[in-house]
Amino acid sequence: MDEIDFYRARAREWLAEHAPRTDIETDLEASRDFQARLHAAGFAGITWPADYGGQGLAAQHERAFRDEAMRYPLPAVPFAIGIGMAGPVLMDLGTEEQRRRYLPPILRGEEIWCQLFSEPDAGSDVASLQTRAVREADGWVVTGQKVWASRAHFAERGILVARTDPGRPKHSGLTMFVVDMRAAGIDVRPLRDMTGNVHFNEVYFDGVRLPPDAVVGRVDEGWSAALTMLKHERVAIGTRNRSEATPLSARALALRQASPMSPEVHAALGRLAVEERAVALLAARMAEERAAGAELGARGSVAKLASSQLARNAADLAVSLAADRGIGFEADDRQTAELITAIDWTPASGIAGGTTEVQRNIIAERVLGLPKEPQSDRDVPFNRLTVGSIKR
Ligand SMILES: Cc1cc2nc3c(=O)[nH]c(=O)nc-3n(C[C@H](O)[C@H](O)[C@H](O)COP(=O)(O)OP(=O)(O)OC[C@H]3O[C@@H](n4cnc5c(N)ncnc54)[C@H](O)[C@@H]3O)c2cc1C
Repeated sequence: MDEIDFYRARAREWLAEHAPRTDIETDLEASRDFQARLHAAGFAGITWPADYGGQGLAAQHERAFRDEAMRYPLPAVPFAIGIGMAGPVLMDLGTEEQRRRYLPPILRGEEIWCQLFSEPDAGSDVASLQTRAVREADGWVVTGQKVWASRAHFAERGILVARTDPGRPKHSGLTMFVVDMRAAGIDVRPLRDMTGNVHFNEVYFDGVRLPPDAVVGRVDEGWSAALTMLKHERVAIGTRNRSEATPLSARALALRQASPMSPEVHAALGRLAVEERAVALLAARMAEERAAGAELGARGSVAKLASSQLARNAADLAVSLAADRGIGFEADDRQTAELITAIDWTPASGIAGGTTEVQRNIIAERVLGLPKEPQSDRDVPFNRLTVGSIKR
């Protein structure tokens, strides 16, 4: 048995004993507790440097763990922004002090992070954001509104991008900050989505004070920091381990069918299983490349697009399989309730982390080398641009 096989066997054994069998993601304390135990057992931050709380192991170790973990519904969502986006951006751009301070508690599940980019007038075009951070003698003062901030209602920290120099064109004059979500002047207002759950929030900043060392990267160079984080986001979403336990997996949908299945249903489930496997292999390959330090660049958009397309196809199939019960079919048991929630959540996967159209633009321009979309406002100072009839 080589070292990777040994690690795999240890992961299998540990998961068999400790992994949850049902979804515990909605129970935050149980999720944090599991993440702490995962870390203590050596299975969190597998390729992160040991100095920052990681295990300092190789991409192959990560792959072995992912393969084993596929069978269980591990609570990943609460930690997804910290582990998949904030941690990597701090590793890329943070100071040594920031890395040592912020990275270990992410892996132990002690500090949950949110991303504070989108605003009512800045989504796909996030560089249009208007939240201001004004420099003062002892740091910065932030005022403005963010929206769709996932998990901000329980996050301890956030990564914020704010405008620090409105006299510059919109892609300049932005700065990235670390925010303590408990700071005075932050008002988090949960939004209920169409599944009936609270996932994201409006976040209002009213004169929130940030210390000078809250800046991530360089002042006024927040656009390239934001692009770095968005790139990590696409890779994190695209390479997410899609558990076989999800209600929209081909296996779970097959188990819901009466036996024997019609040839058409059999074939449709087979096609979904093949697509699942292809997306899982693409995700595993990219996760391994990333863990080995490769620059995935715009290819992360391919993985993100493939995973949201898979979710869409699975949800469409689930609805068509339930068609004899009507499109508004109702839950009469827990599994059906979870399936309905998963179907209702599916449109979000084509929006969160950049919409399907935006991913296609990125792939067209940066992977296929097609001509760039025109940007007439690119070099105009932000404070001379107008939104509708309103001057900024
Ligand atoms: C579940 C979920 C979680 C989210 N979590 C967060 C979070 O934690 N933090 C955060 O900051 N944001 C978050 N968001 C916001 C998300 O990033 C934005 O919703 C997304 O970028 C789209 O922006 P928008 O909603 O303003 O739509 P718009 O940008 O207004 O887009 C409207 C439509 O126009 C299309 N469109 C826009 N520009 C182009 C273009 N150039 N070419 C072709 N089509 C275009 C879009 O594809 C879309 O169909 C989340 C969103 C969802 C759904």
